[in-house]
Amino acid sequence: MPELREVETIARGVDKRIRGDRIVQVWFSRRPQTFKTPRARQIKGLTGRTILAVHRTGKHIVFELSPSASSADAQWIVHLGMTGRLLVTSPESPVAPHTHARLFLESGRELRFVDPRRFGRLEFRDLRREAAFGAPGDEPLAIDEHEFAALFRGRRLSIKAALLNQTLLAGVGNIYADESLFHAGIRPRRRTNRLTLLELDRLRLALREILTHAIRLGGSSVSDYVGADGERGFFQLEHCVYQRTAEPCRRCQTPIRRIIVAGRGTHYCPKCQR
Ligand SMILES: [Zn+2]
Repeated sequence: MPELREVETIARGVDKRIRGDRIVQVWFSRRPQTFKTPRARQIKGLTGRTILAVHRTGKHIVFELSPSASSADAQWIVHLGMTGRLLVTSPESPVAPHTHARLFLESGRELRFVDPRRFGRLEFRDLRREAAFGAPGDEPLAIDEHEFAALFRGRRLSIKAALLNQTLLAGVGNIYADESLFHAGIRPRRRTNRLTLLELDRLRLALREILTHAIRLGGSSVSDYVGADGERGFFQLEHCVYQRTAEPCRRCQTPIRRIIVAGRGTHYCPKCQR
C-alpha cells in the first residue's frame, strides 16, 4: 500500500506534467471492478475536459476538471489500491499488461493507469449533481495540537492502531506510524487514553516532521511502486525502527524489537520508547 507521502509525490509529478492539458480521447479496459462509476459514464464525462489541477486527498489522487459544454466542473478520482500506478507517457511507448485506462491528451502525451492486482478504483464526479470528493479522516499535516489530542483522547485502543485508523487520520501507513512513535518516544502498545498531552503533541510534531521529510525525499516506498515517469525514482528513507528488527537503535544501540500490534508488524526501541 503506498504511503500518503508517496501518493502526494505521484500527484505532484502528474500535476507538473499534465496540468492545463485537455483530454481528447479515453480508452478503458473491460474490467468492471476497476470502475466505481460506470465505465461508459466516465468516458463520456472525461472526454473534452481540461485538467485544471491534480492533487492528493487522503490516499486518493484527485483530478480537478474544467466544465464541459454541457456540464459543470467535475473530478476524476484515482485510488491506487495496492499496486496501482499512474504513468505520464507518449502513445508510442509500449502498453504494459494490466493497463486499465489511457487518457490521450491534446499535447500528445498520454496518462495511463496500470494496476496488476486491480484493487485500484477510478471514479468520476459531476459536481453539478454530486458532492466534491473528500477523504475521511483529518490531514495529519493540517491538524493543530488541540484537534490532534481530541482525536485520540477517550479512546482505549493502542496508539499504533489509532494511527493506522484511516477514519481518524488520513493516510498514515505502517512505516510512518512506527517511525513517528520512535521519534516521539512512545511505545506502540500504549493506550491512547493514557497518553499525556505532552506525549500527544510530541507525536503530532514527529509525524509532521517525518511526513514533510519523506516528501522531500520522494516517499519511502518498499513496494513495487513507481513515480509518474514510470521510474523507480523513490529514495529509501533512513528508517530508525521500521524493518530493523534486532539491529541496533540508531540512538542508544539497543536491539530493535518487532511485535504485532493491530495485526501489523510493529518495530520499536525498548529503551528509547516508554
Ligand atoms: Zn533506542
